[in-house]
Amino acid sequence: MPVETRRPLISGNWKMNQNHFEAIQLIQKLTYLVGKDDFDAVDVSVHPPFTDIRSVQTLIEADDLRFALGAQNCHQDDKGAFTGEVSPVFLQKLNVSYVIVGHSERRELFGETDATVREKVAAVLRNKMTPIICVGETLTEREAGSTAEKVTGQVAAAIDGCSPAQVGGLVIAYEPIWAIGTGRTATPADAQEVCSAIRSTVGGRAGAEAATAVRIQYGGSVKAGTIQELMSQPDIDGALVGGASLDPEEFARIVQYRLHESPGV
Ligand code: PEP
Repeated sequence: MPVETRRPLISGNWKMNQNHFEAIQLIQKLTYLVGKDDFDAVDVSVHPPFTDIRSVQTLIEADDLRFALGAQNCHQDDKGAFTGEVSPVFLQKLNVSYVIVGHSERRELFGETDATVREKVAAVLRNKMTPIICVGETLTEREAGSTAEKVTGQVAAAIDGCSPAQVGGLVIAYEPIWAIGTGRTATPADAQEVCSAIRSTVGGRAGAEAATAVRIQYGGSVKAGTIQELMSQPDIDGALVGGASLDPEEFARIVQYRLHESPGV
């Protein structure tokens, strides 16, 4: 699959923000700002909190909106005695398309390991949804020169057990932890270098076809002012956007990155 046939994917991770009334308002505002041409060129997913998903689904389906519905996490089992957890089966029933797996906040604050991430990837695929697998290094790891080792290790662990066809359908989000919510963004060249290493790792494990097909996002303080140059990198196919996805104007401008002036113009 040539590079130009990888559809860009811009995803808004709302984290623990927006109750279900606010979620509806945010989608309604985005609907006015993101148009047909945008959706023709770019896939856009929104990842509200679990309690909002049914409301957002209803709105998307009633108004035939082209936002893809996403979740921020799920449990690795389909059902059972797991108080407080959410099954991937339930998400699939709500027509969720994408599930973020292994976000650094889940890894750091909720103890998710590479093994948990692998199980969640399998659970999402088993339920016919697409995982967005998050990987990324800490500042200490970057300064120690171990970024590539950390990130490619996380990728290898997450895709272990997946078929080449499954790997080709995945989304991998490279999110340097030091750039998340900090206002610091990796330079486009640094982000490209790591995303290229991710693609090579995928190729080594699942073959050239999977490596060409897999979509790789960059995440970490992405804003309208930084998206265009990031998206011009050959191995960056989209963005996972946190804070800026809560501001409809800013998020719409990120989705519309291809209409921005080139950097330096
Ligand atoms: C994220 O939550 O995945 C993220 C990248 O957040 P932010 O854009 O706020 O850095």
